[in-house]
Amino acid sequence: MANKMPKSEEEWKKKLSGEQYCVLREKGTEIPFSGKFVHNKENGMYVCAACGNKLFSSDTKFDSGTGWPSFCEPENIKSVELRDDYSHGMHRTEVICKKCGSHLGHVFDDGPMEGGKRFCINSVALDFKKKK
Ligand code: FE
Repeated sequence: MANKMPKSEEEWKKKLSGEQYCVLREKGTEIPFSGKFVHNKENGMYVCAACGNKLFSSDTKFDSGTGWPSFCEPENIKSVELRDDYSHGMHRTEVICKKCGSHLGHVFDDGPMEGGKRFCINSVALDFKKKK
């Protein structure tokens, strides 16, 4: 990332698009099947749209049918923070970028692969670096 990490929400607002700000900084959720990476099958690395932190390899991406990009596991468990989320009258586990503290999505225990995790991540919270 060329420019330095924003320190205040005002700085984040300037750096991010309105949609990105809503998801990443205000824990919003994009409309299912609206995101640009739902059906992306290219090989590469998904990074945090806010700070560039490497988050999910395309190797772990699968089609969950939910309308959000879904992954079995993060590239490195240390690059994400998992936090209990009791909003909207339910208990979910929120996934946060450890480097910049931005909201990415949630993780559920109904994944199809070994480990059983389904990281359900907003497209707008991600950038994609295609493998060359
Ligand atoms: Fe980040």
